[in-house]
Amino acid sequence: MKFRNFKAVPKMIFGRGAFNQLHDILSEERKQDDDFVVFLVDKVHQDKALKDRIPLRGQDQLLWVDVTDEPTTVQVDTLTEQVKAKQKLPVSVIGIGGGSTLDLAKAVALMLTNEGGSAKYQGWDLIQNPAVHHVGIPTISGTGAEASRTAVLCGPERKLGLNSDHTVFDQIVMDPELIQGVPKDQWFYTGMDCYIHCIESLTGTFLNEYSQAFGEKALDLCRQVYLDSHPDSDDKLMMASYMGGMSIAYSQVGACHAISYGLSYVLGYHHGIGNCLAFNVLEDFYPEGVMEFRKMLDIHQIELPQNVCADLPDETIAKMVKIAKGMAPLWENVYGEHWQEQVTDDMLTRLYRRI
Ligand code: NAD
Ligand code: ZN
Repeated sequence: MKFRNFKAVPKMIFGRGAFNQLHDILSEERKQDDDFVVFLVDKVHQDKALKDRIPLRGQDQLLWVDVTDEPTTVQVDTLTEQVKAKQKLPVSVIGIGGGSTLDLAKAVALMLTNEGGSAKYQGWDLIQNPAVHHVGIPTISGTGAEASRTAVLCGPERKLGLNSDHTVFDQIVMDPELIQGVPKDQWFYTGMDCYIHCIESLTGTFLNEYSQAFGEKALDLCRQVYLDSHPDSDDKLMMASYMGGMSIAYSQVGACHAISYGLSYVLGYHHGIGNCLAFNVLEDFYPEGVMEFRKMLDIHQIELPQNVCADLPDETIAKMVKIAKGMAPLWENVYGEHWQEQVTDDMLTRLYRRI
């Protein structure tokens, strides 16, 4: 048995108003007069108060990013070229937004120091050189991207992360004020990503005391947010996201994420909603979790899309089945070593047809 040597985010600030300290954090990185910082910010903040609070200095680069579609290798390479046009490397890359923006910031920080385009590095531990210093600042919570060692990208052949120790943020700023005002459906879908991380981690065969400790606490926080509508829900959800991320980082996700990847790659569903669609048909895998999830749907009056796959052509379903089946570590987490005997095309086809 070889244990994973897990790299965690070395520095973090948590608290309402913590965003105001970004200026100080960056001052530590700015050493020469021509040093500059790159801010990759979700376009949604273009018309919000946060825009005027970004601690921009004269030479800094502010790039608004469009996350209508989930990040692609092409988008990362284009952003990287825009930064490289400055002729000098930035001293820091800051991502401000949701999982999509955080992943873009991680990927650009990596691609500034690793040649050849991001598609080349989709996989595990392919990154050669350390990234430029990079900071993650979530403005919607649930994915755990602030805690993880991956930057998930849709590439020419597949949706797969740049997984490496160098991917991990050098610093995160968790300011619960920033997630105020997220539209309700999106708040639910992204938050459920965290809930599902906990269920998959806690019921998986890879579970150990480390991931259980994070997973149980994150699950408890999710319940306070989505069942009890606790007054400090923003603080709780932000912490749940981080801890759920830590839990899966040292164990693994499971059946829901495998099926959701198929929906995402073939039909373009975003991660959060894709997970909700998949989770809703997984009562045989996660009976209590799915029951509780449906209660949460009900409380928040969220209507999931219906008949998403029922009438799709067989070949479309077959494509999704192939992608889901390819997620070996996820299935191993569900069933253990002999997962291949259980994960049949027939079983997956039946699940997809119910979505
Ligand atoms: P997102 O970043 O895709 O954003 C979802 C929507 O919320 C967007 O329309 C965005 O503009 C909006 N938004 C963000 N902040 C807002 C705010 N404060 N107010 C109003 N609107 C706001 O959402 P997400 O669910 O956080 O991220 C999904 C992405 O994360 C996917 O691309 C997925 O692959 C990736 N992901 C990464 C990891 C990882 O470990 N790296 C884990 C899970 C998912
Ligand atoms: Zn997820």
